[in-house]
Amino acid sequence: SETVERHEFGAEVGRLLDLVVHALYSDREIFLRELVANAADAMDRRRFEALRGGAPALPPDAKVRLVPEKEARTLTVSDSGIGMSKEELGQNLGTIARSGTRAFSQTLATEKPAEGAEDTRPSLIGQFGVGFYAAFMVADRVRVTSRKAGAEEAFAWESDGRGGYTLEPAERSEPGTDIVLHLKEDAGEYLESYRLEHLVRKWADFITVPVAIVAEGKEEAANQGTALWRKPKSEITPERYTEFYRQTGMNFDEPWATLHWRAEGALEFTALLFIPGAKPFQAIEGERESRVRLHVRRMFITDEAGLLPSWLRFVQGVVDTEDLPLNVSREMLQATPVLTKIRRAVTGRVLSELASRAKDLEGGYASFWENFGPVLKEGIYEDFERRAEIAPLLRFRSSAVEGWTSLPDYVARMKDGQEAIYYLVADDAEALKGSPQLEGFKARGIEVLLLSDHVDAFWPEQLNRFEEKPLRSVTQGGLDLSKFAPEDSEAEAAPGIEALVAAVKAALAGDVSDVRATDRLVDSAVVLSASGSGPDLQMQRLLRRAGR
Ligand code: ADP
Repeated sequence: SETVERHEFGAEVGRLLDLVVHALYSDREIFLRELVANAADAMDRRRFEALRGGAPALPPDAKVRLVPEKEARTLTVSDSGIGMSKEELGQNLGTIARSGTRAFSQTLATEKPAEGAEDTRPSLIGQFGVGFYAAFMVADRVRVTSRKAGAEEAFAWESDGRGGYTLEPAERSEPGTDIVLHLKEDAGEYLESYRLEHLVRKWADFITVPVAIVAEGKEEAANQGTALWRKPKSEITPERYTEFYRQTGMNFDEPWATLHWRAEGALEFTALLFIPGAKPFQAIEGERESRVRLHVRRMFITDEAGLLPSWLRFVQGVVDTEDLPLNVSREMLQATPVLTKIRRAVTGRVLSELASRAKDLEGGYASFWENFGPVLKEGIYEDFERRAEIAPLLRFRSSAVEGWTSLPDYVARMKDGQEAIYYLVADDAEALKGSPQLEGFKARGIEVLLLSDHVDAFWPEQLNRFEEKPLRSVTQGGLDLSKFAPEDSEAEAAPGIEALVAAVKAALAGDVSDVRATDRLVDSAVVLSASGSGPDLQMQRLLRRAGR
């Protein structure tokens, strides 16, 4: 009809769909996880809006319904959620809107397999999730009919997952969304109730919105919808925790740490938190805020409450409290002292867990450190209050020992009369070991911490001291090592050194502020040094790069 609008997909969507349609078979059942998760989100969003008067209330029997129809060869995923307007249908389903999907499509572009090599990109899909587009793994045509909560009219979006999509007016008696999948020839299994039940249990058991399968006139509950965190610890097996971690966080690894506790008294909340066992695919450096989910009496409220500081943003999970009203608004979330208190308690608990696990380096702390150490270090310069608690959790490479070491261990090894903790920062860990900056220290048996993470240029100055000992960059001038005899005492002051220094000084006048004889070198002839009071060399490099 004349009211049908045709639109082309953006290039990015086209590329993504091409891969989804042609290459991804192994993981294709995850389409159900993606669609059910979207439906449940839409219902959570409607409930949240309704409490604030922004949308009509959710009907009491609101559910996600899966409706297989064998004759028509369709599977419909229906919800009574917030719905989408015509503009939102085009925007949300016609372009790549969310960050995860964008990261995925960038990976596709940059990691093309070499000629003749196996294409391993499809295995990435489960780890990223491609959201709604996963529907095209099992369907050769998808029709989405949606009515926005609060609006009278409905619209339908339809596509075969190739060139583009159409938009047209449609009918829907209540707000919500129906996603009709016209199943591919080889996807008939998704018409079978038992298969759908199995998948819901596997992928959506912990979604707190009820999911039902409607087949042959009967409607049957398919998920437990258990708020696992509300159960006593003694009733939860490690496997169940792992399932929860994987389903709710879309993870594929085992959690490295599982923290489950209930706070009672002045503040009441339950927390179930996980520290991942593997570094997540979506670079955590890009993400800034904690995504720990806030629930109020089981109901999901938001994952943007910043329940943990950004330097603990690798922690995942749920905090459920009794101390906020269900109709809490965004503004209220920002202002309420309840959240501040919860944040403090949860942060303290995570830190004490890390402190107790840090004692066991081989037993796993090293792997945690390698995954998330650089993020934790940000806490030193971002969180004045927690600085002293974070410092002993840090691990370092060092000129004196193999493997990882810590500030307390360094302090225990300090030489008699050594007043400072010495460190050297550079871009590259290997280059650090051979640096001429270390020679004088090595010759005197003085340990130097070797720092090569991006954040290392910033935090040592902020920390300033550890156990009363100042932290000093070895590239900073004015370090006096003369009171320590070199262990190999061949290195003696060369005769005629004053004349040489004067000559070099004259030759470099205008380029350097001073030239001095030093006891910091053994094999090398010269070393560049920062002035005693200014920023150290690595900091100067970064400032130059930033054009300052
Ligand atoms: P994501 O859900 O991660 O944002 P998707 O590609 O799955 O990515 O979906 C894109 C957007 O489309 C969602 O953010 C949401 O705004 C909208 N959307 C998808 N499914 C529904 C639904 N059932 N009801 C309402 N909005 C939806």
